[in-house]
Amino acid sequence: MRWNEQRVTQGAAQLDQAFEPSALPGLELAEVAALPGHLRTVRTPEFAGAVFHEVLAKSALNKVPQGSSMPFSWTINPYRGCSHACVYCFARGSHRYLDFDTGKDFDSQIVVKVNVAEVLGRELAKPSWQRETVALGTNTDPYQRAEGRYKLMPGIIEQLARSRTPFSILTKGTLLRRDLPALVDAADRVRVHLAMSIAVGDPELQQSIEPGTPTTKARLDTIAAARDAGFEPDVFVMPVLPHLTDSPAHLNALLRDIRDAGARSVQYGALHLRSHVKPWFFAWLEREHPELLPQYRKLYPGASSKATQAYRIDLAARIRPLIRRYGLEPQRGSGRSRDPYPPMGSATTTAGQAAPMLNLFETPSIEAPGAPAPTLF
Ligand code: SF4
Repeated sequence: MRWNEQRVTQGAAQLDQAFEPSALPGLELAEVAALPGHLRTVRTPEFAGAVFHEVLAKSALNKVPQGSSMPFSWTINPYRGCSHACVYCFARGSHRYLDFDTGKDFDSQIVVKVNVAEVLGRELAKPSWQRETVALGTNTDPYQRAEGRYKLMPGIIEQLARSRTPFSILTKGTLLRRDLPALVDAADRVRVHLAMSIAVGDPELQQSIEPGTPTTKARLDTIAAARDAGFEPDVFVMPVLPHLTDSPAHLNALLRDIRDAGARSVQYGALHLRSHVKPWFFAWLEREHPELLPQYRKLYPGASSKATQAYRIDLAARIRPLIRRYGLEPQRGSGRSRDPYPPMGSATTTAGQAAPMLNLFETPSIEAPGAPAPTLF
């Protein structure tokens, strides 16, 4: 069976262990088995702390809701949950099903669509498929740790390229480097766009707020590798964290490093705290930076998910000159990265300032408030 081929290659039989319900407080075996298409649940010593729930997906392509301002119509998410465990992750709400919670379970209970490439191949072969741009990495990270074990991305890349479907990948995962040869090959057939998310330059803060991610240095090196392979990768400096990563010195150093790594452009956005993320984020803040609680309560009062407009205007005034200084303004490009994203500046804020067009933290339409969480899957 397919999933038997996806075990780690060395000593798989010894590494895989049967799921023990007693080792997973709050989640009964019957509830796990109720996952649609559930095959089995495994944990392995080399992925300590992670539990993989392997499922057979019925579909791979997810339609972006009509009216969304996203510059793509379809997404693919091979995984649900994300071991990168970013405290601020806006996708946490997508884990609210069964008894999974949006905190620790999102970070550690990973649903793996082991047949995603085969299902995708069937969907792309339909005569009705219009070859619209498909985005990966819009909800959970396709190059999170699980990808090292399951190797789903090479199959997805090949299916997209074979069907002449343009696609984009946004990730924090350095495992992207493994697939650069396949991506180069794909880019000879279709438009391929790569983007890396890098928001925190300070190593200690980065490991605290993104504990499961590769270091910023490793991500910068991955940008350089993608550039060397012929791509023009963009960087999402999102989220900018008020009073933590928004000082001119921090932004300047980060943008300089991003420029030096060879990125083509930067898009940025202030921290966005949707209702299902806010308590998790504030718990972290209280633990790590209690002195900032009063300021954050003022910036994100009540149920507000966006930082105050005054803050966002101030941030724009601070970061945009730096983006210009380092020649990182978003633009339509050429080469392997024929950018599917509109350029920064083609929309305006109420304050009359140019606004980033693709901002997963500022744009609510990809997961409309109140919409059922799993719609992107
Ligand atoms: S890498 Fe992206 S999807 Fe994964 S936890 Fe971080 S923000 Fe969420």
